[in-house]
Amino acid sequence: MNLDIGFSLNATLSATVCRRLAEMDASLQGRPPEDVVRKCPANRILAAIGDLNSIPVFTKIKGMVDRSLLEASDPDLLNRGMFVPVQLSATEITVAITNPWDTIAVDTYLQQYPEHMVNLILAPVSEVNQVIELVVGTQGPSRTELESIAVDEAESQKLDFDVTGEFEEPIAKLVAKMIADGIRLRASDIHIKCEKDRVHYSYRIDGDMGDKFDIPIKLKDRVDAFLLNLMGIPPEERAKRPGISGRLAVNYLRRSIDMRFERHRTYRGYHVTMRILDKGHFEAKLGMGSLAFDPGTLFELEKVMAIPSGIIVMSGPTGSGKSTTLNAVLRELNRPEDNILTLENPVEDEIQGVIHCDLKGDDFKPMIASFMRSDPDTILMGEVRDLESAELAIEAAITGHKVLTTIHTPRASQIIERFEQLGIERWKIAQTLKAACAQRLLKKLCVYCKVQRDGLTDRDIKKFNLSEDWKNRPVYERNHDGCGECGGKGYFGRTAILEIIPITAEWSDALSKGDLSPYELEKSVREKGVLPSIRDSGLKLLEEGVTDMAALCKVIDMTTE
Ligand SMILES: [Zn+2]
Repeated sequence: MNLDIGFSLNATLSATVCRRLAEMDASLQGRPPEDVVRKCPANRILAAIGDLNSIPVFTKIKGMVDRSLLEASDPDLLNRGMFVPVQLSATEITVAITNPWDTIAVDTYLQQYPEHMVNLILAPVSEVNQVIELVVGTQGPSRTELESIAVDEAESQKLDFDVTGEFEEPIAKLVAKMIADGIRLRASDIHIKCEKDRVHYSYRIDGDMGDKFDIPIKLKDRVDAFLLNLMGIPPEERAKRPGISGRLAVNYLRRSIDMRFERHRTYRGYHVTMRILDKGHFEAKLGMGSLAFDPGTLFELEKVMAIPSGIIVMSGPTGSGKSTTLNAVLRELNRPEDNILTLENPVEDEIQGVIHCDLKGDDFKPMIASFMRSDPDTILMGEVRDLESAELAIEAAITGHKVLTTIHTPRASQIIERFEQLGIERWKIAQTLKAACAQRLLKKLCVYCKVQRDGLTDRDIKKFNLSEDWKNRPVYERNHDGCGECGGKGYFGRTAILEIIPITAEWSDALSKGDLSPYELEKSVREKGVLPSIRDSGLKLLEEGVTDMAALCKVIDMTTE
């Protein structure tokens, strides 16, 4: 069994940890070890490991680390042993380790500081990783960083990344740096574009495209060929296809990171997009991080998830994090006794225990047929985009399945109209739709450099139809020059805002009889005052100083209520 702690233990140690977990939590007693681990967040597992070894656990260590001590360390060694030095005093050195059964950290420091006592603390792998990234980052694209990227062993024929001739090596280094920097900067995509007299790459971070970095134009074809080799596309195939897509896995500081690769032929050469599917940032959990919704919304989402059958639709533009939220919902619904299937194009986020199907063109229909025969409880459909997929969702819901899907509409209430436009009768969608949701991803201000203002301007208050008191409500704005923490952007990270319109039996009835228009429904939900709209949630975040008006306006139409 594999404990989700970033390193592997032998069976005996795994069983010991599970026993300790059960001792610490009576509700886990008598359960099989796999079940115990499934129920436990990584932090609890860590606590049990710390307890077994009498080592204190610190879930956050970044702020405690002495930078000069860290910078004097060999990042290669830290990376290999997954430990970091934290503090050094006259008599003691404190070291954060991830695996107490590995003695490399103790051995290293006993040798280096023979007069000192080595004081151990236990920290999550993710946290130690982030600290190591700090040194790797400050040294720029070091050899270690370049070497930390190697093609995943599973992709056997693509191992030529490191083992290249002298001629190829600078290209390997260039591509490794490009990818490593992208991961370190938390980019979602890396773009490589050919223009008339330049070739450049750039990153999309928090939804925005950033600076362009030039690649010497004479290397245009070499970079292309290197990437296609990495993808294992044979040369004779390359010219035949206008577009090439595929997947690759890279190793970054011991983490395996999946990437999706898309290449289109263009007039000047090619346009490559590499999407970084970094689980570390990607595996969002409801109620945490970017999905830290307010308690009311979270409660409503839980209620929606508990519906035995019917359709739950998430709307929003591209890049609003719809599928991230649905995947988080799916993870919550994922129980051994349930059969969950997904139909996606392409599969982005694989969840253990869930059966994922990649939808490609023609095999759509037969796949669905065999799909329904396998008796799923919950179905995630990537997107409702045509009559065929809309009918499938309705059909599955009518026959007693729970269907999660996404659709492109700005407002939650427009979901019903969109189904109608696709050719579904109103009563059918009114009877099967259980919740209409809308989501946006909002940029968060950098907490280190945001700038306070006394209130909004009269102009903004008028334009956005806000109450007069906003004039005296302190709000924050981004610092246009940014700071070191946010890379000069003034924003750091994003948060999701979610609006849920639950379709109750009463509303479903009124909708199918035509007594209520979708817009009236939205209004009456609002009047009941149960759930905030996207606009309200956005304004709340503005008031709390989490975001600024410019970021709000970018993703929400603030001029209409
Ligand atoms: Zn900043």
